[in-house]
Amino acid sequence: QYDVLIVGGGPAGAAAAVYAARKGLRTGLVAERFGGQVSDTLGIENFLSVKSTQGPQLVAQLEEHVKEYDVDLITAQKAKQLNTENGFAIELESGAQLQAKSVILATGARWREMNVPGEQQYRGKGVAYCPHCDGPLFKNKKVAVIGGGNSGIEAAIDLANIVEHVTVLEFAQSLRADAVLIKKARSMGNITIITQAQTTEVVGDGNKVIGLNYRDHANNEEHHLALAGIFVQIGLLPNTDWLKGTVELSQRGEIITNSHGATSIAGVFAAGDVTNTPYKQIIIAIGSGATASLGAFDYLIRHDQA
Ligand code: FAD
Repeated sequence: QYDVLIVGGGPAGAAAAVYAARKGLRTGLVAERFGGQVSDTLGIENFLSVKSTQGPQLVAQLEEHVKEYDVDLITAQKAKQLNTENGFAIELESGAQLQAKSVILATGARWREMNVPGEQQYRGKGVAYCPHCDGPLFKNKKVAVIGGGNSGIEAAIDLANIVEHVTVLEFAQSLRADAVLIKKARSMGNITIITQAQTTEVVGDGNKVIGLNYRDHANNEEHHLALAGIFVQIGLLPNTDWLKGTVELSQRGEIITNSHGATSIAGVFAAGDVTNTPYKQIIIAIGSGATASLGAFDYLIRHDQA
């Protein structure tokens, strides 16, 4: 039985593991894929003290750091159920059960994709999902933002300060963002908003994005936009399907945590992109992983009679 069992091996899970092990707790970490979203990232320039790195390199460093400690690292295993009777148990898809006195959920999130030709091919080569991360790569260039919800319009306002021009493409007839954001976007000289626009293809030159095609639903006409970057902002999906009916989730399916990383179930903590934290970044996931571990430690010293 583990004192702390962490589910997820992204930056949040890795930080939680190091913090738990450094408290002398018997620590296990189970992950489908160690590294999480960072494994899919090219350049990273906003992780403080590391001016510039690549995702796979940061993942290797996270793994090396975790392995410095006595952490039971179980990878290529997917959790399918959290049981909360008689302590905690995580049931894996393989059928195995891992027992623990406390659990930290750090299963992260994934960006909803457009599912159009070219999107996968040019991911990281012009197709981007994170304006905070990749915005500066498109300084003085033309970009599009796909999605006219709050995150899309926020992204457009953010990018408009850096890039030459932003075109927002929204599928519906009107934008779903808050009126104050729409007003701000409309007041900026370099944002164009097109509604009823369905992106049909990411166009590249073999190496990088050079534009996109979209269909105007009002008249079914096809259009082409020449641009260097496409920011897809149509939703971030937390990996919590397997947790429904256990910990309390927000309307978006994110795990609700308090300032100690605690969830609605005493002894179950959560960290990183899977939670209702408003900003999803590596540095924030790492901080919240540390918080969740310290929260679990506090819980154990109060509840663990063994
Ligand atoms: P994740 O990284 O999503 O890790 C989740 C972990 O849980 C993985 O190990 C996964 O395999 C595991 N898992 C999921 N479900 C299960 C399950 N059922 N059972 C077992 N394991 C499971 N942030 C920055 O700060 N700077 C950047 O430059 C940057 N660029 C980005 C570029 C891209 C393309 C993407 C997609 C994201 C980027 N981000 C960036 C965001 C950053 O990667 C995330 O905020 C961060 O990885 C979140 O960490 P996490 O540990 O919460 O979750």
